[in-house]
Amino acid sequence: MIDVNNEYTVKIESVSSDGNGICHIDGMAVFVPYTAAGDEVKIKITNVKKRFAEGVLTEIITPSLDRTAPDCGIFGKCGGCSLRHIKYEKQLEIKREIVNNAMRRIGGFKDFTVGEIIGMENPTRYRNKTIFHADKNSVGFYSAKSHTVVPVTDCAIGAEENAEIINAISEFDMTELFTRKSFSTGDIMVCVKAENTDAKKLTAAVSGACKSVKSIYLNGENIYGSAAITDTLCGIEFRISPESFFQVNPVQTEKLYAKALEFAGLDKTMTVMDIYCGIGTISLCAAKKAKRVIGVEIVERAIDDAKENAKLNEISNAEFYARGAEKIVPYLIKSGEVPDVVILDPPRKGSDEKTLGSVLRSKPERIVYVSCNPATLARDARFLSDGGYTVSKAAAVDLFPHTSHVETVVLLCRKLDEAERHVSVTIETEEGWRADRRVNATYGQIKNWIAEHYDGMKVSSLYIAQTKQKHGIIERENYNKPKNGNSKVPHCPPEKENAITDALKHFRMI
Ligand code: SAH
Repeated sequence: MIDVNNEYTVKIESVSSDGNGICHIDGMAVFVPYTAAGDEVKIKITNVKKRFAEGVLTEIITPSLDRTAPDCGIFGKCGGCSLRHIKYEKQLEIKREIVNNAMRRIGGFKDFTVGEIIGMENPTRYRNKTIFHADKNSVGFYSAKSHTVVPVTDCAIGAEENAEIINAISEFDMTELFTRKSFSTGDIMVCVKAENTDAKKLTAAVSGACKSVKSIYLNGENIYGSAAITDTLCGIEFRISPESFFQVNPVQTEKLYAKALEFAGLDKTMTVMDIYCGIGTISLCAAKKAKRVIGVEIVERAIDDAKENAKLNEISNAEFYARGAEKIVPYLIKSGEVPDVVILDPPRKGSDEKTLGSVLRSKPERIVYVSCNPATLARDARFLSDGGYTVSKAAAVDLFPHTSHVETVVLLCRKLDEAERHVSVTIETEEGWRADRRVNATYGQIKNWIAEHYDGMKVSSLYIAQTKQKHGIIERENYNKPKNGNSKVPHCPPEKENAITDALKHFRMI
């Protein structure tokens, strides 16, 4: 029986989605951090659950060929990197398999293979943001799965300047230090949580130690320099506030966005909805290529930044809404928005059925799903696939070298439904095809559009059906028949017919 404290000699078979080596003892999977596939190692069991167990590495007997010397003094202690002991090329292969496995096992896409994984040329000091914690004795990172502070003087994936800042700040009684560096200007923002701390002394110490610090916050208050720093991505300048989400690896983010936009296939006739837009990074890149962009994001401050960023870059075809996607997306779609392309870039927990259901109802030509969590990506891709979309391409981008995290972009294309397949054979131009997909704007969409554009005017489904028929759009029989066989059929008055005709034009149904 496998038990806590038992020791075993095992061969590691593969690496799990959270970067732990996997072996089997008596048929049970055992997860061992900091091991590599092919390692022959001694391990000690630390935890036994019903279905699996966990262990720690005690001795490497024969190292795997995938191994390399981890060039960081705190690797294995700080809880940050989990794959630094594995050659970078091999890390990329592991991540490719993590995405493939999730899509196959969770999503049920049996033959799924991620087309490419885009690695980092120089996978070091790539993070623009670092959060340090402090206790009575030291400043550092929380160790894996605990709140014990591992002292840190430098982090090999973070900015070099962090070392100077930590040094300057260690004399203060702080609990948290957050640094963010702009890779384009070199400017650094420092946010400190500390009670009973003199703002002037803190400013003098930090700005004196590191000349690149251009903004300091103490307990949420801007005590020195500017309130935000700016960075450039894909030729667009972004203003970043302390609480706004900004991708942590700007070098790879440019590659990620380029891939997302390539998949989006935008042109100047298209409307794009960018859901979970943060400070509008993808939205503004897309705005340059599309007719119009609608960005949606829950953090108000991020939307303020997004609007500010649009102005800063003289982009006028982007609108932003600060609300939960699950509320605003259904509302926008109901009010008649018809996006040609939807981009989704949700947090780790993924999207939700309300948001995705509305996206499906709006029938965009393409959905580009950007994900930092293959498991929720697979779940949501399944939902979209069951709703009439085909997973057509996927690429992974390594935004987080030396960790097991991976970013994935998936392109989903709409399958034509029966009626459309019939129509589409007669429509050959690209523009015609795009117009054709709007044949199915719902009665609800038409009603909402009319109410909004005609001062609250109400039109019945019967009137819509009659007007559609006048324009040669074949309708289902029963809409035209009165409910009671004997009653007179009301006829659509001219002003309502006008409004409905306008709506049909808006939805490009005529
Ligand atoms: N596309 C952006 C941000 C992606 S991160 C970029 O590349 O920078 C995910 C974003 O989703 C975060 O900004 C987070 O604040 C936002 N978010 C989280 N839950 C949300 C919800 N329910 N509705 C809308 N946005 C949400």
